[in-house]
Amino acid sequence: MTVPHAQVVGWIEEFASTVAENREYLTQLDSAIGDGDHGINMDRGMKAVLGKLEGLEGDDVGGLLKTVGMTLVSSVGGAGGPLYGTLFLQMGTATAGKSELEPEDWAAALDGAVDGVQMRGKAEVGDKTMIDALVPARDAFRSALADGASFAEALNRSAGAAEEGMQSTIPLVARKGRASYLGERSAGHQDPGATSSYMLLKTAAETWSGGA
Ligand code: ADP
Ligand code: MG
Repeated sequence: MTVPHAQVVGWIEEFASTVAENREYLTQLDSAIGDGDHGINMDRGMKAVLGKLEGLEGDDVGGLLKTVGMTLVSSVGGAGGPLYGTLFLQMGTATAGKSELEPEDWAAALDGAVDGVQMRGKAEVGDKTMIDALVPARDAFRSALADGASFAEALNRSAGAAEEGMQSTIPLVARKGRASYLGERSAGHQDPGATSSYMLLKTAAETWSGGA
């Protein structure tokens, strides 16, 4: 199985609609430990992305993902916009010139995503951020491939690891971002960015492991 350009577009659309459906939920999570705008931010950004997709031509996956990243950077404020913008820009760099994704290309895209977010935000696993979902997802994808799993199976394991990573943020005390201002009081709440990052990996698994 490979993932053609059209299915990468399908993933972006699916992520946008999942974010729209969960706008209130993400905002509620952010109300508990932040400023209550994560759902609003992500929804505004992904709606802007959907608008951009309509005029997009060609079949370069890298170009598509870079456009997503640039649109998020320019349409979303706060920490989330630049972080997700960098995530997609680095995924785009990792997949430049590809019209379809092999498992190794997606592994490289996930490497780029994590490196980009860490370059910008300096968060490590355990800081209670989106990194807590992204790093396990990246690692689980590669180790599934190393175990001989199919692309579809590796995507599902990656999404499962992102979900566990998301849940692992609940007891943590935040050390990065707005939630860190709360200190110990940030414990007991799930991180909103880790939650949207889980949705990013879950929609990839759902969109791609069924069809191609
Ligand atoms: P803001 O915090 O500016 O209101 P959002 O609410 O959109 O922006 O996003 C908050 C999310 O951003 C957090 O839940 C966390 O996952 C993520 N985040 C914040 N700071 C960092 C960082 N330095 N590195 C990685 N992720 C971060
Ligand atoms: Mg916020």
